[in-house]
Parts: sequence; C-alpha cells; structure tokens
Amino acid sequence: MSSTLAPKAAPAATAAAAPTAAAGASAGHSGFNGGRRIPQAVNEPVKSYAPGSPEKLDLKARIAAMADEQVDIPVVIAGREIRTGNTSKVTMPHAHRHVLGQFHHATAQHVGEAVAAAREAQRDWANWAWEDRVAIFLKAADLLCGPWRSTLNAATMLGQSKTVFQSEIDAACELADFFRFNAQYAQEIYAEQPVSGPGMWNQMDYRPLEGFVFAVSPFNFTAIGGNLTTAPAMLGNVVVWKPASSSMLSSYYVMKLLEAAGLPPGVINFIPGDPVAIGKVALEHRDLAGVHFTGSTGVFNAMWKTIGANMASYRSYPRIVGETGGKDFVVVHPSADPQVAAVAAVRGAFEFQGQKCSAASRLYVPRSLWKTMKESMVSMMQDIAVGDTRDFRNFMGAVIDRKAFDRIGEYLADAKRNATVIQGGGARGDLGWFIDPTLVETKDPSYRLMCEEIFGPVLTVHVYDDARWHETLAIVDATSPYALTGAVIAQDRAALVEASVALRNAAGNFYLNDKCTGAVVGQQPFGGARASGTNDKAGSKWNLMRWVSPRTIKETFAPATDYRYPFLAAE
Ligand code: NAD
Repeated sequence: MSSTLAPKAAPAATAAAAPTAAAGASAGHSGFNGGRRIPQAVNEPVKSYAPGSPEKLDLKARIAAMADEQVDIPVVIAGREIRTGNTSKVTMPHAHRHVLGQFHHATAQHVGEAVAAAREAQRDWANWAWEDRVAIFLKAADLLCGPWRSTLNAATMLGQSKTVFQSEIDAACELADFFRFNAQYAQEIYAEQPVSGPGMWNQMDYRPLEGFVFAVSPFNFTAIGGNLTTAPAMLGNVVVWKPASSSMLSSYYVMKLLEAAGLPPGVINFIPGDPVAIGKVALEHRDLAGVHFTGSTGVFNAMWKTIGANMASYRSYPRIVGETGGKDFVVVHPSADPQVAAVAAVRGAFEFQGQKCSAASRLYVPRSLWKTMKESMVSMMQDIAVGDTRDFRNFMGAVIDRKAFDRIGEYLADAKRNATVIQGGGARGDLGWFIDPTLVETKDPSYRLMCEEIFGPVLTVHVYDDARWHETLAIVDATSPYALTGAVIAQDRAALVEASVALRNAAGNFYLNDKCTGAVVGQQPFGGARASGTNDKAGSKWNLMRWVSPRTIKETFAPATDYRYPFLAAE
C-alpha cells in the first residue's frame, strides 16, 4: 500500500520539527521574560471554490490523487506507528466499493500502552510554558489553512461524503477556529488571578488534570476530533484518542497535521479500533482523569454508567464532558416570511444529508402558510442534486455507511405506512449510500418521526391551526428528550419573545429567523442540555475550564513570628 501522508505543498521540515519528550523544558518556561500575548483569534474566512478559483484547482488535484492511493493507517502511541494486521477498510460512502485505505485495530494492550505513554509525556508537557504549548496549535491552524487545507478537505469529502462547502466549513475553518480561539481562551483563563491582601501574594495555578483524558469522537465533523483532543492538550493534559471508524481518513490526517506542527510524541495517542474493547480499558483505568466525548446519547450514557460503577478505583473524580444527540426543530409563526422559513428548513434539514447533530428534523408550520411553504420546499428539494461529492454540482452526498442507510430506510418505511411522504422517500444503495431529501407530513405531533433522532435527510412537518401557536410551543418543548438546537421564524417581535421564553430549556443553541445549523466557533458556542449533553460549549472558555484543576497558592511575605494575637493582650 502506498501512503502519501504529507500534503504536496507541506514544508518538508515540519514533521522533523517535533521535539522529543525529553526536549521539553522541565522548568516550565522558555527563559522568556515579558508578558507574552498570542495573536488575536479571528475566524478563518470560508473560501468560495468558485469555478476557476485557485483553491478549486488545488483541491480537485488533491482529491484525484487521494482517490488514487490507499493509505495504511496505523495506531500511533508515543509517536510510534504500530500496524497490528487486524484491519478494516476505509471506503467512500458515495462509491462504497472504492477503497481509500485501511486502518489497523488497536488491542486492549495498546490502550494500556497509550495511557502509559501519555502519562510519561505529561511529565514534560504539563510543565511547558502555556505559550509554548499553544504555539503548536496556532502553527497547526496556519498549516491547515495553507498547505494542508486541500488534504483535510479532500479526506473529509472522500471519506465522509461532504460537499466542498460542508467540508470547508468543518475540516478547514472550524478546526482552525478551534485551535486559534481555544488558545485565546486559555490565555484568558491563565490571566484570571485572585486579589492579594496586604503582605501576601495569592495565585492560581491552573494545573492540568492528573491522569489522561479519553477523547472519543463522532464521524460527522472532522473538526470535532481535532477539538476533543487539542482543547485538553492545550492546557497541559495528555490524551488517548479513539476516533470514529467511519471518519478514519480525515482523523488520521488531523493526527499527522498535529505532528507536523510539532506536537511532542505521547501528548495525543491515536487509538483506532473496536470501541467497546478500547472503551473498557480506558474507562476503567485508574488514571482516567476525564472523558471528552461527542456522539450519541446511548453511548455517552453507557460510558457514564461504567465510570459510575468504577468510582472507587479512580485517582480523582473524572471530568465527564459529552455533547450528544438532538431532535432539532424549526417553528414557524403565522407572521413569518414563508420563503425565509422554507429556506431555513431545507438548508437546516438536508445539508450534509441531515447528519449534523444540529440538523432540523421536525418542523411546525401554521396552516395559513403551509401551502406556500410546501410548494417552495418541494421545488427546492426537486432541484437538489444527490451524488458523488467529487462533482461540485451536488448539494448532497451519501449517508455515512450501510448501517445508517438501513436505519434511515426503516424510518422511510414507517413514514410510508403511518404518515404522508410529500417529497422524496427514495433510497439507492447499489453504488453509494444515497437517500433522497425527504419531507414527511404527520397529523400527530408525537409521531415517532417527530421524537426520535434519525440522523439522515428526513424532515417531518406538523401543520398546526394558527390559533394554537401557544399550545404548539408547549408541544415543541415537551416532544423529545433532547435540547440541542432550534429555530423560530417570525416577523412579529412579540412572537419571538414568547417563543424564547417558552423554549428556553428546549435548545442550547437557539436561532431567531435563521436555520438551526452552522454554529461558528467564537460566535455561537455550541452545546445543548437535557439528553443532548453536558452543555460545556465546545470551543469556549467554559469547555476549557473542565480541563484544569486549579491550585490556589498563598504566599506570605513577612510571616508571623508570634503565635499570640493582639486581642489576647491584658485588659
Ligand atoms: P456514536 O455514538 O455511534 O459514536 C461516537 C464515538 O463513540 C465513535 O468513536 C464510536 O466508535 C465510539 N463508541 C461507540 N461505542 C463506544 C463504547 N462502548 N465505548 C467507547 N466508545 C464508543 O456516534 P456517531 O454515529 O459517530 O455520531 C453521531 C451522533 O453524534 C449523533 O447522535 C449526533 O447527534 C451526535 N453528535 C452530537 C454533537 C453535539 O455537539 N451535540 C456533535 C456531533 C455529533
């Protein structure tokens, strides 16, 4: 198997620049005097990939080269690549016979070795000056936005079936934003120090957690794997990373990018393989200091249960951070512009085949607007091209794998039996895992498709009587166990205010007159409550706070030399 790891234009010296663990400055600083400030974070601009643009030419070439090669993806422990021979194929969801490579499964023993390597690396890493740690991720951001951009985009487009736009906002921009904004939030946290009374100096030492962080990432965003691992690492933590099997190609390139930016060996260890076997060793390990998870609610609940059952055996209470499932809504008020509502619903529901945790999957429309909205939505949906994402004219690619294809197919069959399929409903799995954008109408607001996370391009609408707006808000709030994202479309300000109050706990990311997807790091910190997760807001200071264990230090400059207090003196 050939393995062209570094992107074509990557500076040759970068990989070699990775310092050895021993090179870390144990003294905890680099001899630099001065209050250092890192560059101000700004969001990475989204490139257009318009016909003829240089970025499009570059990306097309990278896609063609990557489609032609087969990458042999190892386990990486302490910078060492391990090939176990127990492998799984990496394929394109939109051309599932096309093999992009294979990845090697880690064994239970490798998980133990990864923890040991991480703990060893932490001896230096935790004591580096924070500015030197975050410099690695700032460099990773610039490499990503420059010579590595087409590699991460091509891997995400081919391996996860994202269109160029969906990939660009994830694998390039969001990942770079995570690196840059988290570095800035780290700076803000470290700057927060207590006041000192006369004769003393009070300090906060923001220690990393004592142990390792187990980062477990989902398939649907390349940037999430990059964030789950690097957010704790920036603060001096060390990480064992279990990437999702169905996004292995892009996850591997994220790992290579971090190495190229100079990440010391052992700080993040890359452990692909069977989730249950890997999870068991990691979650029951005495040194488990935290879990940084994004994925489904069921998996997170099972992890929490394992941790609960092992409480007596841990060194510290593990920090448990998980962002999980959603059943995201769009509620339309009678005052809404129906075209604005239709576009919010179509974009929110069908971009990336509805496989965003934030994807719109239940829609509430007043009867007075339904005819206009339906016509507009159906016309847009008929215009949407579904196919191979290498053809930039496609708005949608394939769903991630056969399991997802079958699961979504069952929901389509249910809709055909128990509701009305207004548009779509088709699925073709012979070449790729393609599912048409589908609009289902139900009279029953508690119908299964209005409550359960489907994670596919299926939007179910309930049409309500205009006079029942208030009751409808109560239904939206109570229908599903999740509370991730939601949108309200209205021109009447009072309706927006009422919905904001009625749905205050129904979504952690709440949109007014916009679609319920597309959160941007630094602008809309992301996370939901109820069954949608611990709401620690990925890409924010609140998230980073979970990865430090502050130590308070009080120093007295002229300490007492007499045990007696003045009040003890004679009357
Ligand atoms: P998933 O839960 O199937 O898998 C997530 C990760 O957990 C994968 O790496 C998987 O291998 C691993 N895993 C599975 N079982 C495990 C076990 N027993 N022990 C340890 N690890 C285990 O989720 P997915 O299909 O990859 O992603 C889709 C889900 O993620 C959806 O529910 C979606 O809503 C959610 N999601 C949420 C957010 C958010 O911010 N709230 C963002 C993206 C995705």
